[in-house]
This record gives sequence, C-alpha cells and structure tokens, in this order.
Amino acid sequence: MKDQRARHTAERFREVYGAAPAGVWAAPGRVNLIGEHTDYNDGFVMPLALPHTTLAAASPRTDGVLRVHSGDDGSAGGQIAELRLDALRPASDGGWAAYPAGVVWAMREAGLPVGGADLHYDSTVPVGAGLSSSAALEVATALALDDLYGLGLSRQRLAQLAQRAENAFVGVPCGIMDQTAAACCTEGHALFLDTRDLAQRQVPFDLAGEGLRLLVVDTRVKHELGDGAYAQRRALCEFGARALGVHALRDVQYAQLPAALDGLATGPADGGPAGGPDVRAAVRHVVTENRRVEEVIARLDAGDPRAIGPLLTDGHASLRDDFRVSCAELDLAVAAAGAAGALGARMTGGGFGGSAVVLVEEAAADAVAGRITQAFAAAGHAAPRIFPAVPGAGARRLV
Ligand code: ADP
Ligand code: MG
Repeated sequence: MKDQRARHTAERFREVYGAAPAGVWAAPGRVNLIGEHTDYNDGFVMPLALPHTTLAAASPRTDGVLRVHSGDDGSAGGQIAELRLDALRPASDGGWAAYPAGVVWAMREAGLPVGGADLHYDSTVPVGAGLSSSAALEVATALALDDLYGLGLSRQRLAQLAQRAENAFVGVPCGIMDQTAAACCTEGHALFLDTRDLAQRQVPFDLAGEGLRLLVVDTRVKHELGDGAYAQRRALCEFGARALGVHALRDVQYAQLPAALDGLATGPADGGPAGGPDVRAAVRHVVTENRRVEEVIARLDAGDPRAIGPLLTDGHASLRDDFRVSCAELDLAVAAAGAAGALGARMTGGGFGGSAVVLVEEAAADAVAGRITQAFAAAGHAAPRIFPAVPGAGARRLV
C-alpha cells in the first residue's frame, strides 16, 4: 500500500515534469503527547509521528533552478512554481513554495553544496490542523536534497535546517519540536526531546500491545487569534525568564516554583491580545508542563501507560487556565472525552484550534469518539475528524 502510494507519487511527478523522478521520500505529521509551549523555553517535548505522510518525488537539476509542485497546494490541479536559487530571498511572497524553497535556501546559507531540483509533493497530513504538515513538507524536502546531493547530514541537522527555513525564510517563529519529530521519530515510540541540548530518547509506546488507543480529534477550526498570541506567549516567557534571572524557563526547577512565583510581579500589565495570561501563570504552565513530561516518561518506563491519562488532562487544564491557548472546541473535545470515560485528553500543538489527543481503552474508543462527535453537534460546531494515532516512523526514502 505504501509502495503503491510511492509509485503513484512518482507517476504524478512524471506527468508534471515529463520524466521519472530520481527517488521518492516521505516525512510524517506528528502529534505531541505532552510538553506544549515548552520548546521555545529550552524545555521537554514528547511527540510521536503519525502514519500520515508527505511524499516528495524529486530529481536534481544542474541549471540553478528549483521547481516545486503539489497536489495539495489549494489550487485546482496545481501550478509549478519555478524559482532561481540565486534569487531566493527570505519572506518573499508567503505562498506554500516558501517552505521547500526555504529548505534549499537554509542549506545553501549553511554552505552546503545543494543545487536545483524538481519536486512534486503528495500528502495525507491534514493541512493547518496542528499536525505539522509544514514540518513534514520541509523535512521530506530536506531528506530528498540530502540524498540527491550526497550531503550525509544527520537527522537532527536536517531538522535544524528545516526549522531555520520556517523561522527565517517563511517567517514562522516555531520551535524545534515539529521538525525533529518528522525527522527522528521511530515506529512504536514517542520521542523524548530535550530542546536545550537536543538529547533524544525513543520511549516505547506500544498502544496496541497495551489494549489502548490514542485518538486524534481534529476540530477543523483555526482561530484568528493564533499567530499574534503565539508571539505574545513567547515574549511573555522571555520576560518571565529575565525577571527570574534565568536563561530560559527550563532553568526554574519544579521545587523552586512557589518561591519563583512569589518573587514575580504580576506584570507586564499589557500582555498583548485580550485574555492572555499574566507572567506568573505563564511561568507556572511552563514549569509544571516540563514536570509532566518527566512524569509521563517515568510512568511509561514503569510499564503503566494508563497512568499517563491524568497527566494529559492536567496538561490541558494548564494550557486552558494558565497559558490560555485553548478554545471552546478543544475544551469541549477534552471534556466530552473525560465524560465518556477516556483515560485522559489534552489539546496538542499550538492551540486556538487544531487538534486534541485522547487516550482511551481500545474497547471504548468508538464510544468515546461517538460522544465527542455528538457533543460537537449539540454545541453547533462542525463535525470533528477523529482518527487513531499509531506511532509511526520518521522521514525515510521509499523508492
Ligand atoms: P500545520 O503545520 O499545523 O499543518 P501550518 O500553518 O504550519 O499548519 O502549515 C500549513 C501550510 O504549509 C499550508 O498553508 C501550506 O502553505 C503548507 N503546506 C503543508 N503541506 C503542504 C503540501 N502537501 N503542499 C503544499 N503546501 C503545503
Ligand atoms: Mg506547522
């Protein structure tokens, strides 16, 4: 089935560009199990790769031209975007081609011998659902170029180049989690990542073997507030770290939290978009969230995956009440899941829409999904898209 999709993507490449591709590469979307809004605070995250992937069929070019085409760019049929490598400039037009172009730009900026390419993409990662279709697109591109030009870069280095592309070229100030997940996850595991030193550990997370299921609930909403609020939360965390005299909020130990909160004024008063947190609440979220990641790992290591449920739900409360990045649809998904007997649930990703994750007993999964769907209908929200997350593999070459 995977091979069939790769063949289909290669065939589409041939239709678009008139010759077979040199290869086909894949990179997955992700959900974050726990560790939200910690990756720009030098903290801990724990994503897992989804079975949903973005495929890149690619061939090298020798004329300094980059051509990109996608079946999922929003236009009927898709257009080829053609760019000259020597004319690539950050934050130029903002179209989807900026993601792959940014990867080429970041590699060349790093002095890597990357030339032109023809690329065609075909993706099953829901776009804009908080499942990181952007990182899947970047990392599939980075791995394809790494192979085509024999760069021999490590997975983590590819992730860093992809993040550089998104930060500096596309203009999105994301942390390193999404790209690392797309590049480094392995089947059957969640990836523990310390975003300070990029130390990694693959933590076994055998849902099926335990009789468990992790449902992803894509709310299909994306609230406008999102972008400005993300920047505001980052700024507030940086303000908090400065006020506490630490390099990053990661440096505030959980045991020191009460003293740290006592020492903080409640400012800044004008924190940005209405409804944002004050600095104490922001610090409390980040410090307790790092702690929750450590506790989730401890419980998984102890062979008790069911015991992570309450930590997921606590994490949601912290994101909702302290960090204030949730929204009505995410809160409803989490509340309905809890009322239907889920082991735990939380929003995942940046917030203000996107997706939630729900840990359930396998036998109860359909009933819980049904209750969430009913609750959305009763509240007048559009039907959510609900599917199981099976921890999948990171980026790889398919053909
Ligand atoms: P998320 O990463 O959560 O899906 P983002 O807003 O970060 O949401 O990234 C979505 C954007 O990435 C899309 O608007 C589009 O520009 C680009 N994108 C992602 N996947 C594809 C694809 N397969 N083809 C074309 N563009 C894509
Ligand atoms: Mg993204």
